[in-house]
Amino acid sequence: MGKGTVVTALRRRFPDIWVSISVTTRPPRPGETDGVQYSFTDDAGFTAMIEAGALLEWANFAGYRYGTPREPVLAALAAGTPALLEIELQGARQVRAAMPEAQLVFLTSPSWAELARRLVDRGTEPPAVVAARLERARVELAARSEFDVVVCNDEVGRAAEELVQLVRHPRQRPG
Ligand code: 5GP
Repeated sequence: MGKGTVVTALRRRFPDIWVSISVTTRPPRPGETDGVQYSFTDDAGFTAMIEAGALLEWANFAGYRYGTPREPVLAALAAGTPALLEIELQGARQVRAAMPEAQLVFLTSPSWAELARRLVDRGTEPPAVVAARLERARVELAARSEFDVVVCNDEVGRAAEELVQLVRHPRQRPG
């Protein structure tokens, strides 16, 4: 059970939340559809979006680039709809800088062994990519105190419920 599962469970409990669709240069995994989990693009397309200022934030992650289109986020917020970005650490830092009012939630695994097991069990990534992702996870875990809240992804329903409460009653670190 990964982040995607928790977000799906959150949406079921809180259908009014708007979830950002990131753009990425990573190729689709089996079962992923362009425009649903991600908008898939190539390097030139991604660079063009950066140059046009179309991304609220973006980052390199394990060999590929990922970014959040800015306009849809601003449109959701302008309409008064809570917006969820499921992004990694460097992007979260950029969001904090651009939108200090954003609530940053760190979704963590119950244990390191469990995180590694989830990555390997997915079976979609070659060993070098799994290793790169584990290394990123180590860096992210070390930075979790930068976030406003840490939520443990131990049981999908419980974690989703905690997120619903956080959307309703945001918790932010002072200053
Ligand atoms: P995956 O390839 O497993 O779908 O995602 C890899 C990592 O990229 C995850 O940590 C995910 O949260 C992050 N990610 C997905 N979309 C974005 C985005 O738009 N911006 C940033 N900074 N990270 C993202």
